[in-house]
Amino acid sequence: MTDYVISKPDTTSLTVVGEDDRFPVRRIFCVGRNYAAHAREMGMDPERDPPFFFTKPSDAAFDAGVTEKASIPYPLDTRNFHYEAELTVAIGKGGTSIQVKDALEHVYGYATSLDLTRRDLQLAARDKGRPWDWGKAFDLSAPTGPICRRDDAADLDLKKSVIRLFLDGQIKQDATLGELIWSVPEIISTISDSIELKPGDLIMTGTPAGVGPIMPGQDLKVQIAGLPDTILHIDERLNSLNA
Ligand code: MN
Repeated sequence: MTDYVISKPDTTSLTVVGEDDRFPVRRIFCVGRNYAAHAREMGMDPERDPPFFFTKPSDAAFDAGVTEKASIPYPLDTRNFHYEAELTVAIGKGGTSIQVKDALEHVYGYATSLDLTRRDLQLAARDKGRPWDWGKAFDLSAPTGPICRRDDAADLDLKKSVIRLFLDGQIKQDATLGELIWSVPEIISTISDSIELKPGDLIMTGTPAGVGPIMPGQDLKVQIAGLPDTILHIDERLNSLNA
């Protein structure tokens, strides 16, 4: 057994519907601009951009929507904190150069998620050609609902299921998974052409149009037909620097 000089970090894990055991999170890959209308609202041309990816640390993920309402503080260092509703794919079987036709065999299950974003930091980085990490990869930035095993997700339709975000009960994002520019099998295949996917990896597949700001005290819900909801409350700001 290996001894460590400081206490070993915990493994981040997520609830699985109908299981006592939890899904261990290894890495989080996120797809940029995967719905045409969202690419346009971000000022980009959706037709000419091949898929691209960014990442979040594994411990950005946490259960949101299991029993009691999850909450996070309004994050540090931003004045423009945004929601993005997304379908998340949990990888159960790894691989490289995975064919599109075989890709869904690598899926353990699916969940709803929020790709929480410090939009001011992301856009400032984007406009200077710098990495997006400070806008995207901050603490608690990937709240995720319970994972539904692929075999149990009969009511999820990767083409027809509606994806919606509710802010204080009002619909702000409303699309179908069929509007994804790059489908779930294509995303898995593309990532695996560049790096080796491994069990425990999560893939957040991108957000539809309608992203916008969240304020302290507000409630978010991500709904995808056939999956459990992600539910999150935003608490007060962490410190007065954000005021
Ligand atoms: Mn996103």
